[in-house]
Amino acid sequence: MCRRGHVQTSDIQFGDYGKRCPRCGAEIVLVCDSCGTRIRGDYYVPGAVGLSNYKPPDFCDDCGNAHPWVGRQGRIYELQNRLDTEQLDPADQLTVREQLEALLSADLDEDEQRRRWGRVKKLAPQLWESSQPLINTLISAAIQGQL
Ligand SMILES: [Zn+2]
Ligand SMILES: [Zn+2]
Repeated sequence: MCRRGHVQTSDIQFGDYGKRCPRCGAEIVLVCDSCGTRIRGDYYVPGAVGLSNYKPPDFCDDCGNAHPWVGRQGRIYELQNRLDTEQLDPADQLTVREQLEALLSADLDEDEQRRRWGRVKKLAPQLWESSQPLINTLISAAIQGQL
């Protein structure tokens, strides 16, 4: 995969690929940025799927970090999915969901981002802990330092 998610080969054992994507020129990535685990290819899918059917995974199956081709929306959706599996008070869960919903917008000023992320952290501390690699890609270091 290149950093924009164009598939070069779905099997790095036998596939042929260069250092740059022939379609967009972006760097080719084979492993997770965060933990270095190989990005899952076809060969884990039962029933031999061809390249045309292969869709690169959005998240590392080891550490849960988002791959570079996943946008802000995909990352926040993933946090919401994980929120669904948390054992939270239903009212808190709804509040956190609403914060994440609002954080989908990239145009919030810093104060508002800080306030909203602060509530997520406070109400869903386990989600916060377990999703650090993902959350780090959504919040600037400056804001994180103030949470
Ligand atoms: Zn590309
Ligand atoms: Zn990873």
